[in-house]
Amino acid sequence: MEKIHSLLLKQKAYQSAITALHWDLETEAASKSKANIASSIGYLSGEAYSIFVNEEMISYIDNLDLNQLSALDQKVIKELKKDLDKIKVIPKEEFVAFQTLKANATNTWQEAKNTNNYSLFSPYLSQLIDYTKKFMAYRNEAKPLYDTILNDYEEGLNMKTLDHFFNLLKDELQASIKLVNENPLTLKKMPDHYGAGKQKKLAHDLAALVGFDFEAGVLKESEHPFTLGSDKNDVRITTHYYHHNLFSSIYSTIHEAGHAIYEQNISDEINDTIALGGGNCMSIHESQSRFYENLVGREYHFLKNIKPLIEKYFEAFKDYQVEDLYLHVNQAKSSLIRVEADELTYPFHIMIRYEVEKAIFNDNIDVALLPQLWNDLYDQYLGVRPTSDTDGILQDVHFSQALFGYFPSYALGSAYASQIYNTMQEKINVKQLIEDNDLSLIKDYLNEHIHQYGKALTSNEILIKATGKSFDPQYYIDYLKNKYQGIYQK
Ligand code: ZN
Repeated sequence: MEKIHSLLLKQKAYQSAITALHWDLETEAASKSKANIASSIGYLSGEAYSIFVNEEMISYIDNLDLNQLSALDQKVIKELKKDLDKIKVIPKEEFVAFQTLKANATNTWQEAKNTNNYSLFSPYLSQLIDYTKKFMAYRNEAKPLYDTILNDYEEGLNMKTLDHFFNLLKDELQASIKLVNENPLTLKKMPDHYGAGKQKKLAHDLAALVGFDFEAGVLKESEHPFTLGSDKNDVRITTHYYHHNLFSSIYSTIHEAGHAIYEQNISDEINDTIALGGGNCMSIHESQSRFYENLVGREYHFLKNIKPLIEKYFEAFKDYQVEDLYLHVNQAKSSLIRVEADELTYPFHIMIRYEVEKAIFNDNIDVALLPQLWNDLYDQYLGVRPTSDTDGILQDVHFSQALFGYFPSYALGSAYASQIYNTMQEKINVKQLIEDNDLSLIKDYLNEHIHQYGKALTSNEILIKATGKSFDPQYYIDYLKNKYQGIYQK
């Protein structure tokens, strides 16, 4: 294991450099410097990649006697093997061609989106799908291809679980969606200008309030908010300040802080293994960001408690009631764009992408027919129909990076958050803690039951630690139904 640990340290050094360069690229770098930084990232990624992906290391790891290792080291090897098993079946020239294709596809997608020209992007999409099918087939697993894809995002996840989950949402939430669409709220108009300097101070105060550790992380600005981390003591988050919309930076800051609080509180023992450091799968990660953003951040009493802080920077809010803010940040209605969707309609945006991906991988649908399918599904589930592919199938970056199977994590994360909240409420009365403006016990609970484990447990094991049972979508459905009936049936 000594050999493995020293190589992991080497890999981490490369990874830290790559992360810092990515961070620089998104936050500070001058436009003329970007091509140079991108090629440095490419070079370092190649070096980091070949530390483990080579014949010698693959056979060394395959021949290790696991029984001689500690339980933790066994998990480290299992994690390494999981990654290597996916890659080693792919011929190197195909792997490299695929990486290049993805880079070009993302550039073309951006252009296609800007000019509403799906036919520009579709030949790339078709190739990305073909490569993905081929790579999955190489692994020769005894399950449907799309299940293999889903498994790469979350161990054990399959279409059976997701079909059940989304069918329940369909059956139980259609009435709530009808309710919110037919009864729009009367809202007090928000102030229409917010200086970036003041928003920035507020974002810092809010990140600290929810538990972000500024000695182990930084908060800056980027076009699209994100979280990046190479170690629990170096977790970087961003937000974006819009002059006309204060709540966008408030909620993206709290959301990314939720991801960061997770990373910052992985135990030292797990962090030191490197391979098991960092958060668990994307859906568990999203459960933490959405927990803070929605279950804490959009709560009436949380808004009541932060209102004086908001007024400190934006005096106009002295003329508003807490109720005005609460309704403003919790209004819901069917819309076309996923990233702007409210909590209630959000999972339907995800379900639509899930059905599109099933059509791609189970039914081998022709890519030329995908925009029509996309639009029909929006009509069917949300009662709205895109009038352009820019607002339809071209809106998200994921397909252009071949991130098939990724979308369900967003909806699962929200659902896991509700299940976790429910158990917490029984044990530590989260509602009361939010009302008392005491968020530290909430963070302690999440640290103890979820964060500390990093990748050392599966997502199912984490859910059982945190809630005593495997995934049960009913908590999420009940939460959404109660919340929106409460707001819209007054
Ligand atoms: Zn997120």
